[in-house]
Amino acid sequence: MIVAGNWKMFAGPDPEALAERLDGLDGVDVVVAPPYTRLAACVEAGLVTYAQNVHWEAEGPFTGEVSPPLLLALGVRGAIVGHSERRQLFGETDLGVARRGQAALDAGLHVIACVGETREERDAGDTGTVLRVQVQAIGESCGPHDRLVLAYEPVWAIGTGLTATPELVQEAHTLIKSLLDRPVLYGGSVKPENAVELLAQPAVDGALVGGASLEIDSFAAICEAAARSRS
Ligand code: PEP
Repeated sequence: MIVAGNWKMFAGPDPEALAERLDGLDGVDVVVAPPYTRLAACVEAGLVTYAQNVHWEAEGPFTGEVSPPLLLALGVRGAIVGHSERRQLFGETDLGVARRGQAALDAGLHVIACVGETREERDAGDTGTVLRVQVQAIGESCGPHDRLVLAYEPVWAIGTGLTATPELVQEAHTLIKSLLDRPVLYGGSVKPENAVELLAQPAVDGALVGGASLEIDSFAAICEAAARSRS
């Protein structure tokens, strides 16, 4: 079980207080992905810390980007790639996501690679095709790497309060795993109230949490639910 908190472009909770609250929690690997300016504070607090993105080059004239060696030098352990906000708002492509993921893995980072369909794609019956294209792009460059985890994040469920049903999540995760045999996290309006049911699905290996990771109490409750879910 893995629970990752994506703080997006929010300052997020106090890292020391969060680390203290999560101390001694067994049965779940907890990850935080704060904005770049808070990476060092999270590392120093002893939290397993990921960046929210990473570039494929080690260094160079790529304004606004950060590379795997720069993250590793800070004590950062991994990176999210392919978040739907990166794909939709910043034009990231399947190819770019795959390059970012591969470079991060090659450099020794862990990677959470996000995939998921939009509302329009689901309504048009294209979910399977979209997931196949996105997962295959990652699979072709990264393979079933042991530091790679996927996250199924239906775009229509992110930050909207709409959660995919457990059955729908189980179906999507089963498809993703058949394409690339790696753990799959669910993301999309996960909260303490729905975490138990979602995490109980056999193909769900954890959660990627946005909004609910900004409050220590709600994030800790989800982490505790994950720790209990396989016991
Ligand atoms: C996310 O940002 O990855 C996410 C799932 O956000 P939220 O939990 O707020 O829907």
